[in-house]
Amino acid sequence: MSAPIAGVLSSLERVLLDRDTIQRRVADLAKQIEEDFAGRELFVLALMDGAIFFVADLLRHINLPVKLYTLSVSSYHGETSSSGRVQMLQGLPASLKGQNVLLIDDILDTGLTLGTVHDRILEECQPQSLRVAVLLSKDRQRVREAPTHYVGFEIADEFVVGYGMDYKGHYRNLPCIGILNQAHI
Ligand code: 5GP
Ligand code: MG
Repeated sequence: MSAPIAGVLSSLERVLLDRDTIQRRVADLAKQIEEDFAGRELFVLALMDGAIFFVADLLRHINLPVKLYTLSVSSYHGETSSSGRVQMLQGLPASLKGQNVLLIDDILDTGLTLGTVHDRILEECQPQSLRVAVLLSKDRQRVREAPTHYVGFEIADEFVVGYGMDYKGHYRNLPCIGILNQAHI
């Protein structure tokens, strides 16, 4: 492993999911999605910035025609728990109208983010179908119900970083997912 990543890794108290475990599961999810959407064009809406690594790896395993759209959404505002306010920084792409849509996020936590975007897609885009994929689902009570059709891993209710997920903008580039040392929070 290269020295710079090893340096960032030392900020972790422990690794929850290592690189190979994540990559294997992402490939499994891709196969499942490919089967479910067989014969259709997939319109992917990925929530930024957290889902950036997940969506990049997932889509490269999917052998279907795919169009990728991104939407910048913020709810943590630099803290380690949800602020309860979901901010959509743009409107939904008009091209999703009437399509087979796959909504992708990194983590299902309170459910506010996915629930809000999911319901807006239904109302504004009248998609032919709408499915939701998340890499992680936290074991906690949801504030808002959000359907999930593809879940990579169920995890405990802890704040995680890595593989696209940040703390104050840091740690997204870790190839694994882990829990930060208290000293770094
Ligand atoms: P929700 O709206 O379900 O509470 O939270 C979803 C969003 O909060 C995710 O898209 C993600 O950006 C952020 N989030 C939730 N839990 C974590 C976490 O443990 N670590 C990080 N870095 N972000 C999280
Ligand atoms: Mg997010």
